[in-house]
Amino acid sequence: MSDLTQLGYLISAVLFILGLKGLAKPRTAVRGNLLGATAMLLAVVVTLADRQIISYGLLALGLVLGAAIGAALAVRVQMTGMPQLVALFNGFGGGASVLVGAASFVVALDLDDLPLSTTTGTALTVAIGAITFSGSLVAFAKLQEIMPGGAISEAATRRFLRGFNVAVAVGLVGLGLGLVLDPSRPWLWALAALALVAGITLVVPIGGADMPVVIALLNSFSGLAAAMAGFVLDNSLLIIAGSLVGASGLLLTRIMCRAMNRTLTNVLFGSIQSSGVTLGADEIYEGKITSSSAEEVAMILETAQRVAIVPGYGMAVAQAQHAVRDLTRSLEAHGADVVFAIHPVAGRMPGHMNVLLAEAEIPYEQLVEMETVNPTFEQTDVVIVIGANDVVNPDARENPDSPIAGMPILDADRARTVVVIKRSLSPGFAGIPNPLFALDNTLMMFGDGKAAVEEITRALADV
Ligand code: NDP
Repeated sequence: MSDLTQLGYLISAVLFILGLKGLAKPRTAVRGNLLGATAMLLAVVVTLADRQIISYGLLALGLVLGAAIGAALAVRVQMTGMPQLVALFNGFGGGASVLVGAASFVVALDLDDLPLSTTTGTALTVAIGAITFSGSLVAFAKLQEIMPGGAISEAATRRFLRGFNVAVAVGLVGLGLGLVLDPSRPWLWALAALALVAGITLVVPIGGADMPVVIALLNSFSGLAAAMAGFVLDNSLLIIAGSLVGASGLLLTRIMCRAMNRTLTNVLFGSIQSSGVTLGADEIYEGKITSSSAEEVAMILETAQRVAIVPGYGMAVAQAQHAVRDLTRSLEAHGADVVFAIHPVAGRMPGHMNVLLAEAEIPYEQLVEMETVNPTFEQTDVVIVIGANDVVNPDARENPDSPIAGMPILDADRARTVVVIKRSLSPGFAGIPNPLFALDNTLMMFGDGKAAVEEITRALADV
């Protein structure tokens, strides 16, 4: 590789790192994104100029096909479908690494040029990449509801799958060693096939509230697979960029685990089943639900000094973010202080609420993270919960038998008045009832998130 290429790769790697740093804060995120895109462009140009490209025609075809599929997906996918799209992209990343790693290995095999870095790199690329590919497809199918989205809860089945996964892991190590010690095609195909099985059996038992962790972990895997492919291709930039994706995915996984009060091992191999008896929806809600109207809510809001808005998945479904911004402006015109209380796993992907609220041009300063906002709820006059459910479920804090016991939540129930906007008493993602709806200080406003918020804004203008 020429010095110029190495220099290009070095600049590109630095730009990737600066881009990632920029992405850490909303204010610098756009610049970070631009730096990352520039780094990618530079990497592609340098590689095209330097490397032995076998067929520019095929490359162009791939580019056109990929761009067409990407553009079509970007236009068609709803905001609510974003997590499954991310899962799919992770899967494609892993799959691409497997193909690149396997192809390079086969070429090297035919040339009988197989240093340890190529064989070890191939074994790791194929194993991690194939797990990422099949695991991501299962995550996609679960989130898209092509297959049942819930966790496998039957103890015997879980035990069997756990044992099976241990056997598969041992098998993967054995096949990987086989490939390194005796490089040949059969080891390669057997390793790829078993890794595909591993991805499926790893993700199938996981469901419910644990999916964000799985997606973040698969994202990390896709980066690791790319980094390993870098060793096979002897490409330093791929090693660096893949490691950056792998490390940031792992950090995100850790943040997600903390937000749900789970360890990674517990997410992957544990059970989210309740250890004791939890109350059913009827027992919690019967005779204790207070329904309210836009007019009543507007009257309470009119005198409120401090209002906190808790957005959740339902706000994304209703696409209510613009209506929420208008309500915020109206409340501020009435003299209220308005903040947005953001739970790290509100919605269906990390940062889901931040993205929606940014789209509606709500200033970042108004978005307050869980640890900061929680101590302020007691001094908050009104909390408006828009399409959120699990992230404000007080059972997580108070009921050790709850399936989500210990998950940190927004303490919305501690505010003077809580207004909950949702269409019914249906549960959220975790599938459990929420005692918040039955509290004395809670008013339920049943309806679609967007329509309900617009009604409140209109009613507020009339009081
Ligand atoms: P939830 O899934 O707990 O609840 C969403 C609520 O929105 C539902 O109860 C639903 O009630 C309501 N809703 C749906 N459509 C509308 C609508 N059009 N208008 C008004 N309300 C509506 O959401 P949260 O954000 O509180 O919690 C997120 C959950 O998702 C957590 O359990 C989290 O672990 C999980 N998760 C998070 C991911 C992430 O990374 N953020 C990824 C994957 C899962 P109704 O039907 O009655 O309207």
